[in-house]
Amino acid sequence: MPMDLLNTLVEKGLRRELPTREEALAVLATTDDELLDVVAAAGKVRRQWFGRRVKLNYLVNLKSGLCPEDCSYCSQRLGSKAEILKYTWLKADEASKAAAAGVAGGAKRVCLVASGRGPTDKDVDRVSKTIEAIKEQNEGVEVCACLGLLSDGQAERLRAAGADAYNHNLNTSESTYGDITTTHTYADRVETVQQAQAAGLSACSGLIAGMGETDADLVDVVFSLRELDPDSVPVNFLIPFEGTPLAKEWNLTPQRALRILAMVRFVCPDVEVRLAGGREVHLRTMQPLALHLVNSIFLGDYLTSEGQAGQADLDMIADAGFEVEGTDTTTLPGHRAAAGGGCGSGSASSEDGCGSVCGTTSPEEPSVPAAREEARTDLVSVRRRGAGTDLAPNA
Ligand code: SF4
Repeated sequence: MPMDLLNTLVEKGLRRELPTREEALAVLATTDDELLDVVAAAGKVRRQWFGRRVKLNYLVNLKSGLCPEDCSYCSQRLGSKAEILKYTWLKADEASKAAAAGVAGGAKRVCLVASGRGPTDKDVDRVSKTIEAIKEQNEGVEVCACLGLLSDGQAERLRAAGADAYNHNLNTSESTYGDITTTHTYADRVETVQQAQAAGLSACSGLIAGMGETDADLVDVVFSLRELDPDSVPVNFLIPFEGTPLAKEWNLTPQRALRILAMVRFVCPDVEVRLAGGREVHLRTMQPLALHLVNSIFLGDYLTSEGQAGQADLDMIADAGFEVEGTDTTTLPGHRAAAGGGCGSGSASSEDGCGSVCGTTSPEEPSVPAAREEARTDLVSVRRRGAGTDLAPNA
């Protein structure tokens, strides 16, 4: 990739202008020799909008496993043989206790997640009580709910209970969505994100990389996310759980993971880009470089797998020269917070950015997925502590 292309991407990022699909694809096609130039360029965009701050988020799995849906990547799916924790709804005080551990560890946002297709109205009541308990006991904490597909009125009820945000990921491109899940559609997912936005919840919607997708698929889903306009975009790297259909999909190198994060930063320059599941498994010792690209990570463990120790996360942030974002700082840049969030909100380029580019460009020739990497099953450990157990959480 010539330096002038990187310079163009930086200039566009600083202006909140959408790169072309070709430019986004070129980031993914860079060589290992060019990697540090790519990270440095995307790092300039990250620092422009978020300085050296890192927001910490903390996951509480309210209900684990036993899902009727068939998402291929998920250890909680129908028919999963993964030996994960399985339990039904945590009580409000149990969830609040788990959340408090994350907040004490430095988390600014608590993400309440439940397996399943979507909540019943009774489930929404239950989660509302949990949100109220967490808000009462942890001043200033942000709460995000992630409960699956929403029915009419549920987003409004969660908002009224005090939820700040709702997460529902697009995960992969529209054209390959049917290959990873058959029990619901891409359109269902888009609709739920829009319902959350319409209710005044801050939308969080992202992707999973490493499922065998092409570069064009990755660019498609990130451009679709930009169009959907979430405030935060979690980037997950597939954790190939034994006992799931994607167990053999070890497609990512640390270098590939960094290129993907850089591409997301260039396409969504002023959005909270969050490094999510698979961070330790795929970036390994290269994790600190990713802090130059993302401005948000999860602290501690994931839903069904264990992350590195919470203290190791904090040490990594400090050693890399970054700082944990406090509750007194607004995560999003002023123009986005004032506009009610949204990718490119208020940007002079939003007309030709978010709305019109996706779907009007001819799809590229599908590129060949990266060569399969050596399986690192030794790095995948099923969560055995925290929510749903008697053991202390990792925070
Ligand atoms: S991703 Fe959610 S809906 Fe899909 S199988 Fe897992 S828990 Fe169920």
